[in-house]
Amino acid sequence: QKVEKAIANSSLSFSKDIKKLSKKYKKMDDDFFEELEEVLIKTDMGIKMVLKISNSLRKKIKSTTSEEVFKETLVEEIYNFYNEGKKIKPINFEDNRLNVFMVIGVNGTGKTTSLSKIANFYAKQGKKVLIAAADTFRAGAVEQLEEWISTRLNNKVDLIKGLKQNQDPASVVYDAYEKAKNEKYDLLLIDTAGRLQNKVNLMKELEKMYQIIRQEDRKAPHELFLVIDATTGQNGVIQAKEFDGVAEVSGIVLTKMDGTSKGGIALAIKDELDIPVKLVGIGEQVDDLVQFDVDQYIYGLTV
Ligand code: GDP
Repeated sequence: QKVEKAIANSSLSFSKDIKKLSKKYKKMDDDFFEELEEVLIKTDMGIKMVLKISNSLRKKIKSTTSEEVFKETLVEEIYNFYNEGKKIKPINFEDNRLNVFMVIGVNGTGKTTSLSKIANFYAKQGKKVLIAAADTFRAGAVEQLEEWISTRLNNKVDLIKGLKQNQDPASVVYDAYEKAKNEKYDLLLIDTAGRLQNKVNLMKELEKMYQIIRQEDRKAPHELFLVIDATTGQNGVIQAKEFDGVAEVSGIVLTKMDGTSKGGIALAIKDELDIPVKLVGIGEQVDDLVQFDVDQYIYGLTV
C-alpha cells in the first residue's frame, strides 16, 4: 500500500495532466502531442525518452483515439522502452554461498539508510549478514552505521570496521571477507565512500576491493548498487553517468520515492545507461525498502 501511495504521489501530475489534455484537445493532433511532451518531461524521464515515446505514439495513435486506448498504448510504449536493452535480472542473491554486495553513492542520497535497509531485508529472512564499514573517509560514517544496527536492526547484523579513520578501505574489506567466509555468512554488504570529487581515487579504491574479493570468488561482487535520490531529478541521471564511468553498476537503489519525486528518473537511467532500478526507498524507516516492480511502477504512472 505504501508503495502504491508513493508511486501515486510521485506521478500524480502525470495522470491528472493526461486527463486534462484529452479533455482540452478534441483530437490527438500535433498540438496535443506537443503538450503531452511537456507533461512527460515533468516526470523526469528525460528528454530523450520523452521524444522516443512521443514519436512512436504519433505513429500509432489516430487523432480520434479514445483516452482509454491512448493510455493503454502509452503504458505499452513505456513498458517496451523500459525493457529494451540488456535483460533485466532480479537481485543476484543465492542461498548457500557468500553473497557480496557493494553500495556506492554520493553523501546525502540515502546510502547508509539504504544499506541498513538491505541488511534488515535479508536478516529478517534469517540470513546471516555482515556489514563492512569501508567508508573510512567520511567522519561519522561508521558511527551512523553502528547507531542503525543497535537501534533499528536490534543487533541482528554484524559490523566490521577499521581501526582508524582514513584507513585503507581495502584492508577493511579484506578482514570482512575473511570473517564472512570463515563464519559462513550469507551476505557481506560493503559500504564504500562515494567520493565523486576524486574519481581516480575512487576508481583505484574500488579496484583494490574488487581484487581482494575476486581472488576468492571470481563472480563477486554479485551486486554493485548505486544509490540515487529520486528527488534530485535529472541530477540523479548525471550522477549515475559519472559513477557508471568509474565502476560497473549493476543496479540502482532509488531513494525518497515517497517524497516529491516525479519518479520518471527510473526510466531515464534505464534508457541512457541501461541500468535497472532494483530497489526503491519509500521512507525513513527500516522496512521502507521494496524491490522495484516495473509493472506496478508503470501502471502507477498512469492511474
Ligand atoms: P547518506 O549520507 O547517503 O548515507 O544518507 P543517509 O542514509 O544518512 O540519508 C540522508 C537522509 O535521507 C536521512 O535523513 C534519511 O532518513 C533520508 N532518507 C534516506 N532514504 C530515504 C527514503 O527512501 N525516503 C525518505 N523520505 N527519506 C530517506
